[in-house]
Amino acid sequence: MVRVGIDVGGTGIQVGVLDQKNRILAEESIPTNTSIPFSEQIHQLATCIFTAVASAGVKMDRVESVGAGIPGIANMSTGVIIKCPNMGWYHVPFRGELQKYFQVPILIDNDANVAALAESVAGVSAGTSSSVFITIGTGIGSGIILNGKIWSGFHGIGSELGHVILDLDGVPCSCGNHGCLERYCSATALIRMGREAVQNCPESLILKSVSGNPDRINARTVIDAAREKDPVAVEVYDRYIQYLSQAIANVVNLIDPEIIVLGGGVSKAGDFLLDAIRKTFPKYVLYDDQPMPDIRLAVLGPEAGIIGAAMLS
Ligand SMILES: [Zn+2]
Repeated sequence: MVRVGIDVGGTGIQVGVLDQKNRILAEESIPTNTSIPFSEQIHQLATCIFTAVASAGVKMDRVESVGAGIPGIANMSTGVIIKCPNMGWYHVPFRGELQKYFQVPILIDNDANVAALAESVAGVSAGTSSSVFITIGTGIGSGIILNGKIWSGFHGIGSELGHVILDLDGVPCSCGNHGCLERYCSATALIRMGREAVQNCPESLILKSVSGNPDRINARTVIDAAREKDPVAVEVYDRYIQYLSQAIANVVNLIDPEIIVLGGGVSKAGDFLLDAIRKTFPKYVLYDDQPMPDIRLAVLGPEAGIIGAAMLS
């Protein structure tokens, strides 16, 4: 038997067919097209799934479930996607529509939750009973795994670490509030901090590495300049590490998981990030003389989305 995992994203939808050992047998993708009716989008997705299953060399009756990770929230019991802004989906009957093509269980969960699940079954947190996955990209996503299961709260709206508020009068957030954690800990935040810093320090390596054009500064530009010990970049990076360490300490103070896994674009900084975080976060933890959770990098990469979605049950 095989399971299908779907990773819904703002630019494309990935589909994977996985065997019982969570190996990807085939992968297909379609570009996101929000300009056509929802039923038509689902028709294209169904066609993509049929193609993926065929290229995996299995018959449709061998598919035991279809799971989807979405950048939003869904009602798990009705299969209705409540809010998925990147796709323009509000209260759409995702399961109902897809069920017209597939008569197997269709599961839906948040994309950070499914990535957390994937890492906890087949990735770096495998074998642990409690883990928190934090993805550091354009925003901050997070997924909590307790006793092998996703915990997204009683109403399914929890584990949104990115929108924990750090500062009442802080930086405006896309959610409408001010001072959300992701405004300080995401790649977007690191870029903003880098651009602000070079305004007064045009001699910075950050600016030199983008030929003097601040619009071209990205998270990697800042991280690479900090690695080279450029004073401006080091200052920005150190401050960023303090914010991220506070975010991690908040998780420890609230949940105290066995392991915290970091994924997303910024995690590509590797040991440069890991060493700084491991050194810094304990000072923000209340019981800082007690054992701390292990901080590790995600190992499954972008495919965690389809792997975790296929694991939903
Ligand atoms: Zn927010």
